[in-house]
Amino acid sequence: MSAQENPAVRTLNRGREASPRRVKIHRCYTIDELARVVGAAKGTVRRWIKSGLPALRDQKPMLVLGEDVLHFLFARKRSRMKCKPDECYCVKCRAPRRPAGDMAEFVRLTDTTGNLRGICPDCGSLMHKRIRCDAIELLRAVLDVTIAQAVPSLKK
Ligand SMILES: [Zn+2]
Repeated sequence: MSAQENPAVRTLNRGREASPRRVKIHRCYTIDELARVVGAAKGTVRRWIKSGLPALRDQKPMLVLGEDVLHFLFARKRSRMKCKPDECYCVKCRAPRRPAGDMAEFVRLTDTTGNLRGICPDCGSLMHKRIRCDAIELLRAVLDVTIAQAVPSLKK
């Protein structure tokens, strides 16, 4: 508990992404408490409530259920990480990106899966995505996919 009250720890957390790790399912939190537990600003927590985090508004102070917080944060993370079929996740930008020039390369890894590779249009990093081989035909409708046969030994 004392670590949470420590102002030094709070400073460390500033600017970092909110972490649901210390949120307990069976607890209620005020906005102040929740901000401290997840390491976010109070304004951030208020924004979550505005954008759909359920809160007990008739309570004073307003309370949020730990369980709701966990669902909200995990759902948000998932939707942010999720790439459309023609997008790869750029680790550097921390966001899904459509490969630069609509060009990608597919390297077959097994009989059924392989790596889709593309260049991030924003930062130039190489992006990877594991996809199923049968997704290639669909991808080719929207991306220029080159097939690289890097591992011929897997052919049976
Ligand atoms: Zn990028």
